Amino acid sequence: MTVTLDDLPLRDDLRGQTPYGAPQAPLAIALNVNENTHPVPPVVADDIARSVAEVVAGLNRYPDREFYDLREAFAGYLGHDLTAEQIWAANGSNEVLQHVLQAFGGPGRTAMGFTPTYSMYTLLARGVGSEWIAGTRGERFEMSPSDAARQVREANPDVVFLCSPNNPTGTPLSLDVVEAVYEASRGIVVVDEAYAEFAPAESGTALSLLPGRERLLVSRTMSKAFAFAGARVGYLAADPVVIDALRLVRLPYHLSAVTQAAALAALRHSEEMLRTVADIVLQRDRISEGVAALGYDPYRTGSNFVLFGGVADARAVWQKLYDRGVLVRDVGIPGHLRVSAGTEAETTAFLDALRDITAEEN
Ligand SMILES: *Cc1c(COP(=O)(O)O)cnc(C)c1O
Repeated sequence: MTVTLDDLPLRDDLRGQTPYGAPQAPLAIALNVNENTHPVPPVVADDIARSVAEVVAGLNRYPDREFYDLREAFAGYLGHDLTAEQIWAANGSNEVLQHVLQAFGGPGRTAMGFTPTYSMYTLLARGVGSEWIAGTRGERFEMSPSDAARQVREANPDVVFLCSPNNPTGTPLSLDVVEAVYEASRGIVVVDEAYAEFAPAESGTALSLLPGRERLLVSRTMSKAFAFAGARVGYLAADPVVIDALRLVRLPYHLSAVTQAAALAALRHSEEMLRTVADIVLQRDRISEGVAALGYDPYRTGSNFVLFGGVADARAVWQKLYDRGVLVRDVGIPGHLRVSAGTEAETTAFLDALRDITAEEN
């Protein structure tokens, strides 16, 4: 008899749940998890390797628990007159968001997002025993300040997630919505700006709203534009008192000396690391135009991916792309698929494969 989860004294609220599970398939063209598909530039890779090598002999000691140098570097990178005292970081922004929920969510509390949105919010909320409240979006997944504020007033959540631009839809979020939700709430408001570097400069950042708003948190990641997903580094900016709250729940020394050294080295080269962003935005727009030309319905996007509808059988098209060596994401919205912008060659391969598949189907 094989043992199943039912045989374990698992928490009741975890029974029947499924773990995060984007397929990790060894396909040549992987456009399914919104990574930057360009490798770390060789000059930067060398400096990172050197920086990591320098800390190796000292790995017998615990790292700087306050990762002060890294926080200072993030503050400098973000600008907006931020200081190290306003910065937090962890192993991916997922861990940052987990810290937020551990400190401000928990059993008997609620967390809210506007669906469809990043699936990890739900999993992280449940992981700390919080109830998840699924707010709704308007026409074409857009959000308006008045509707968002009304929903937040009615649900009265302890933590609200605003994903800007939103994953998996790509929808940019205007700062009006952030301001309205903040006014309407008594809880923590997290603006997840994982894709901020791909958004048009004029759309602004919630970092500009931080002064005077101690319940507002802005999270970022090195996993997307920064081409550093494998290093697992995410960070957050907020009032220094929020950082004090997050210290209560983090594991001691949660950022290893290796991670700190690697992230610091990468940040020293932020210009080179972000050099591919302009081309990725170009490829993203090629995808939007390309899928529209094939008769699909792409949504407005400010990120490095495109969600498109009008797919009669999303599962079947996903499989046909897979069989042609192209991995995209079935995000569970019927009739829709999501694809990340890759290099020019990868993007072309995706568009060519989709054109063949579409011709076959018609
Ligand atoms: C990819 C992504 C993240 C980043 O996760 P990491 O843990 O930093 O790799 C966070 N939020 C959203 C909405 C994302 O799509």
